Amino acid sequence: MLTKTPTGRIPGTVMRFKIDSNFMRVVRANPAMYETRPVSELAAELCQTFIDSGMFEDTPDNYGATVIQATGDKLVSDVCAGLSTFLFGECRAIHCDVFDAFTRLVILGDGDCPECGGELKFVETEGHELNDGDYYTPNSYVVDKYVYQCRECGATIKTEKEL
Ligand SMILES: [Zn+2]
Repeated sequence: MLTKTPTGRIPGTVMRFKIDSNFMRVVRANPAMYETRPVSELAAELCQTFIDSGMFEDTPDNYGATVIQATGDKLVSDVCAGLSTFLFGECRAIHCDVFDAFTRLVILGDGDCPECGGELKFVETEGHELNDGDYYTPNSYVVDKYVYQCRECGATIKTEKEL
């Protein structure tokens, strides 16, 4: 059992896998599980399983990383055993395209960045002025977009609602 080194960890963060076609390929390997559990729950639980077994760390450094990047030098057989135990409750052979899809899963943080799940910081608003002012009252300013930037990957996100 490997010990986790909580470098750079933000307390209370929960990593999860991005739900994409690779993730669906992985969970569909066991239809009984996939049909009875919410996919979002499985995405968090599968990720947590790998954190608990020391296969990768719960750190913002891993936000946006793929499984193959995050597991680094861990043995393929250990990764495969971890996945198999999660899916089937026992160690058994896994179809190579399921394993291949698993290695390409993207790890997300619990923040709002759609790319990596990192924390977003507010940058500015984009808006326009209404022509409703007069000599004494300035025009009103209407916000069209709130602009945020991800602290982890630097992605710029514009939303109509304030986050
Ligand atoms: Zn990001």
